[in-house]
Amino acid sequence: MKKEIDSKRIIVTGGAGFIGSNLCDRLISEGHEILCVDNFFSGRKENIAHLLDNPSFEHIRHDVTFPLYLEADLIFHLACPASPVHYAHDPVQTVKTNVHGAINMLGLAKRLDVPIFQASTSEVYGDPEIHPQTEDYWGNVNPIGTRACYDEGKRCAETLFFDYHRQHGIEIKVARIFNTFGPRMRIDDGRVVSNFIVQVLRNEDITIYGDGTQTRSFCYIDDMVEGIIKFVTLDNDFTGPLNLGNPDEYTIQQLAEIILDLTNSKSKLIYKDLPSDDPKRRRPDITLAKKKLSWEPKTSFNDGIQQTISYFNNLIA
Ligand code: NAD
Ligand code: UDP
Repeated sequence: MKKEIDSKRIIVTGGAGFIGSNLCDRLISEGHEILCVDNFFSGRKENIAHLLDNPSFEHIRHDVTFPLYLEADLIFHLACPASPVHYAHDPVQTVKTNVHGAINMLGLAKRLDVPIFQASTSEVYGDPEIHPQTEDYWGNVNPIGTRACYDEGKRCAETLFFDYHRQHGIEIKVARIFNTFGPRMRIDDGRVVSNFIVQVLRNEDITIYGDGTQTRSFCYIDDMVEGIIKFVTLDNDFTGPLNLGNPDEYTIQQLAEIILDLTNSKSKLIYKDLPSDDPKRRRPDITLAKKKLSWEPKTSFNDGIQQTISYFNNLIA
């Protein structure tokens, strides 16, 4: 059974980021009051500029590694850099954001006695040995590698969410988000979809890391926001973890070719070193999401890529 989010005041941490700002738009359009909490580590003021005059929107510049005292009815916790380039820039801060940030926001949820959503990640599966990834897979993560600040940080955050749930009865919803793309990604985000699109629009070479045979499965932002909202509005004790993503899988080489095709670009493909611990394949099994939420992505890959190309075209032009 489903309910509307009847809460009036909703905290969105990471609300100035890519997914967070799209989520804020959706929640505002549904009539809620948003408290956006963000320190602009990887987010942008431009992502929320259109909301600043809206009386239902308030922004607080705050680092979630420090405690926060606010009142709200529901918390979406998304604060954390998601691009490998950004999270590896300051790995210690990334661990703190994931672990201290989770403790602080769970502490807030406990004091207020309100539900809290966690933006976890497919990275908890690391370089997966089973394919596609199901929620019961425990993952294959190098705990001391260069991606560990993010992967292990998110794994520890999941531990904290489930311990607060078991120990303190906090209502939690933990989503494992797979690669998501679309408008509001940064030009210098560093993730593959934005890199390739920006490179073709600037007539630069397309940088494929490794031989391009590694795979990812890309979900368009509107589908992701819909999945998150459906999960949080589920009126039951279902905590997750729940995979949210698009199961259509592409090699990185294929992705480059699709973007070249759609833009009629003359950019060349160049091959660079593969970053360490880069997962070889990734694809969500979304059977559980289909069953629990009656949700699955609707946007075709080509449509999503076209929308994203238009977005970057406007930024670059
Ligand atoms: P993003 O980098 O665009 O947004 C993250 C936001 O969090 C930014 O606005 C940033 O400034 C803010 N932030 C970072 N550290 C903070 C701190 N200490 N205090 C306050 N704010 C802080 O990334 P995104 O793609 O929008 O990802 C949002 C969430 O979803 C993240 O938690 C990420 O791990 C998760 N996720 C994203 C993807 C994806 O493909 N985009 C995949 C899996 C999980
Ligand atoms: N990648 C690439 N060229 C780039 C950026 C990324 O080939 O310019 C590769 C990267 O090595 C990885 C895949 O694309 O295999 C997805 O990388 P991204 O940083 O988008 O996300 P993640 O690795 O976290 O899934």
